[in-house]
Amino acid sequence: MHPKLNAVKGMNDLLPPQSAAWEWFEAQVRELMRAYGYRNIRTPIVEPTALFVRSIGEVTDIVEKEMYSFTDALNGEQLTLRPENTAAVVRACVEHNLLYDGGKRLWYSGPMFRHERPQRGRYRQFHQVGAEALGFAGPDVDAELILMARRLWQMLGLTDVRLELNCLGQPEERLRHRQKLINYFEHHLDRLDDDSRRRLHSNPLRILDTKNPHMQDLVNAAPRLMDELGAESLAHFEGLQALLRAAGQAYTVNPRLVRGLDYYNLTVFEWVTDRLGAQGTVCAGGRYDGLIEQIGGKPAPACGWALGVERVLDLLEQGGVQPPAQELDAYVVLAHEPALAVAMQTAERLRAAGLRVVLHAGGGGMKSQMKKADASGARHALIFGEDEWTAGEVTVKALRQEQREAGQQRRLPLDPVSGLIDSLGPLE
Ligand code: ATP
Ligand code: MG
Repeated sequence: MHPKLNAVKGMNDLLPPQSAAWEWFEAQVRELMRAYGYRNIRTPIVEPTALFVRSIGEVTDIVEKEMYSFTDALNGEQLTLRPENTAAVVRACVEHNLLYDGGKRLWYSGPMFRHERPQRGRYRQFHQVGAEALGFAGPDVDAELILMARRLWQMLGLTDVRLELNCLGQPEERLRHRQKLINYFEHHLDRLDDDSRRRLHSNPLRILDTKNPHMQDLVNAAPRLMDELGAESLAHFEGLQALLRAAGQAYTVNPRLVRGLDYYNLTVFEWVTDRLGAQGTVCAGGRYDGLIEQIGGKPAPACGWALGVERVLDLLEQGGVQPPAQELDAYVVLAHEPALAVAMQTAERLRAAGLRVVLHAGGGGMKSQMKKADASGARHALIFGEDEWTAGEVTVKALRQEQREAGQQRRLPLDPVSGLIDSLGPLE
């Protein structure tokens, strides 16, 4: 025997029956996006490294230590497995001039890659669903995106997520604030941890995001960006809040919400829960009005969010939310080998009528096949025996307790197939 090979650490296989919850979730997402007129975009999993360095920012956790970057051995290109997808969506929009006739509402779904320490809610390959509205400047679109996420929570039956908001202002306001922050922290150097000292001059805003309990007082008393915001930024933020209030959406303003990517301005927000331990942010986003230009496009505003699929599904499981069962209508038992072709053809006709049918494979006697039929969870066994085969019929046996006629069986002709279809239809 050869030694076993395992999946890469922090990258998970997704197996049945858990995969059913993922499929259900994905179906809800598709419905959500259709309801808001967002259209699907699919970009490559690998992008030029420069795209992420330029967009996410040189001095961020992602670019400094989380990216899977490599040199293409065949042509020397510097490539990276995407750690997030906003940059790629923007790249694609610019490359294909998607905004030439106005704003676009787009959504994506797929795996992202970050070299982090694997733990609950934090993986090296994880999945995001994201929504991006490009080319729109107003707080109406910020509100739309936030309410969209709320609708998804409603569709999924999630109740334990709350909304946090902040306004990061515009670059010049941030610059003023940044200078004040640096001054402030320089006066308190002794109270900064190593990480924060390192960030003091490169990305002081990120110090506000520290989880270090010894620094909380210091950070709470730091100069606030909110105090640097001019009338326009404040109006945008007020506008968003008014729309959220009108929509009955509760929120808290969290002045320390800064987000880990450099491209945000004005609105940032997170949907958080207390039920997932340390990894409590299930969805995060904001405005990135400068990014399109930064990636080489004509300047245009934009806003979006991304949600962590693993965290949302974990939350669903916590809440005992069960996706609807995907039960089989029939399991075909082959008790007489020569009936195979007829059985297969019958199964095809049933599937064409929308029924879910598994045709037994792998041989075995009637008894072991009936066991498989029971274990499959199918509502009926369709038995093709010698008698049935000669008569052009099939025996339909009800398998499940909850069925009115569980255990009962009867024979039905294969032609026309409509009688058989009717007999397999769901009860009521
Ligand atoms: P965190 O603060 O938890 O590291 P982040 O700010 O790095 O999150 P974003 O880049 O905003 O996360 O990604 C959006 C969402 O994607 C997060 O809110 C989270 O739900 C999910 N996410 C991010 N990184 C991971 C990961 N390594 N594993 C699983 N989900 C993740
Ligand atoms: Mg992170």
